[in-house]
Amino acid sequence: HLMVQDGYAPIYSDFDSFYARRLKLRINDCFERPTTGVPGRYITLLDRETTDYNRHFRFTGTTTETLNLSSYNYLGFAHSEGPCADFAEDTLRKSGITMTGTIGDAATSILHTEVERQIAQFVGKEDALVFSMGFVTNATIFPALVDKGCLILSDELNHASIRFGARLSGASIRVFSHNNMADLECKLRDAISQGQPRTHRPWKKILVTVEGLYSMEGTMVNLPGIMELKERYRFYLYIDEAHSIGAVGPNGRGVCDYFGIDPSRIEILMGTFTKSFGANGGYVAAVKSIIEKLRATCSGQIFGEAPTPPVLAQIQSALRQIAGEELGKERLQRLVFNSRYLRLGLKRLGFIVYGQDDSPIIPLMLYNPAKMPAFSHEMLKRKISVVVVTYPATPLELSRVRFCVSAAHTKDDLDRLLVACDEVGDALQIKFSSGIAGGL
Ligand code: PMP
Repeated sequence: HLMVQDGYAPIYSDFDSFYARRLKLRINDCFERPTTGVPGRYITLLDRETTDYNRHFRFTGTTTETLNLSSYNYLGFAHSEGPCADFAEDTLRKSGITMTGTIGDAATSILHTEVERQIAQFVGKEDALVFSMGFVTNATIFPALVDKGCLILSDELNHASIRFGARLSGASIRVFSHNNMADLECKLRDAISQGQPRTHRPWKKILVTVEGLYSMEGTMVNLPGIMELKERYRFYLYIDEAHSIGAVGPNGRGVCDYFGIDPSRIEILMGTFTKSFGANGGYVAAVKSIIEKLRATCSGQIFGEAPTPPVLAQIQSALRQIAGEELGKERLQRLVFNSRYLRLGLKRLGFIVYGQDDSPIIPLMLYNPAKMPAFSHEMLKRKISVVVVTYPATPLELSRVRFCVSAAHTKDDLDRLLVACDEVGDALQIKFSSGIAGGL
């Protein structure tokens, strides 16, 4: 207030407007409270009680264990027991909890270089770089690839970290409608109309950037369509596989694996270890010559903190299991079964759900944001934790619940969720059709 009176804008910018109002709404009963323990098949939340009509609350000191439909734990590796946890614990004792340094200096451990080699091999590229954060990977890779005079064509639903990196690069940015090949082609034609398609002129480079699996929609990229345009218009392609790596494809190797497309046809494959691997961090994989240049020029590599040894151990152990025959395959098959089972079950109950059948991200549409607090509250009463999403992650009028399915869920877990959705859906009048015929 003092600063405003002095004629300056407050330092917190426009926080007072939208976000403050959103915070006051307290729309997500499940997660406006800290969690304890491991975010696996179950997640434990701190109990709280409301103390007045302004919805102030206090924590009671007790906890509730809930069925977890909120974490990106697609393959169930976020657990405190099993090979991943054992190796991470062992590494913590042997190598410590941090490298206390940046990747560019003395902080690249043997585990770090091994993980780079292993992830490159896993996604089918020659080489890779590993970062301590997925967000930083996107934010710092784009400025190292493109600059002023280049053009980025970006899907309208791309993640904030892609948009952040793209803006930081100084390249021109055009946005095409989500997964819409006709719109992408229109923008490509427009971009090269004054030049020659084969040379990207008048642009130095044209980079198309998409995600493998879109985290709010549950849609898979139309990769065959993009590859067809790539043949004709000769752009570079950057795919963010944060949600698809380890989660889609018969071998869990992402969208190339899913669509049977040779990964060598795509210049940059980026992904994160935060989801299917149950760890932290990001990677970018490409041919050796690109990776060598990025290692020398990408600020996230030069100035970024190295991933910690226990995190690298978790990644390595998860990778080994996904790539190994029996156990990894079993988890992938379980994830596909669970995703299809829940999606079909919700449709049969009359809900509108977005996304493709094989997507473990299942958005259940509420549309009206005013129904979000009640949905969250009713689920919590049934000991199920869910994430409800609205603006700025989605348009306000497309508010939704976003379930994340895991290979760790059992059929009984999903049946319990379906019964809860049935009850809450009737009470809140959010079933928009009479459902499709047939039992579960
Ligand atoms: N890309 C996408 C598509 C994401 O969804 C996310 C985070 N959910 C990120 C990048 C950033 O990854 P991280 O959480 O590992 O920083």
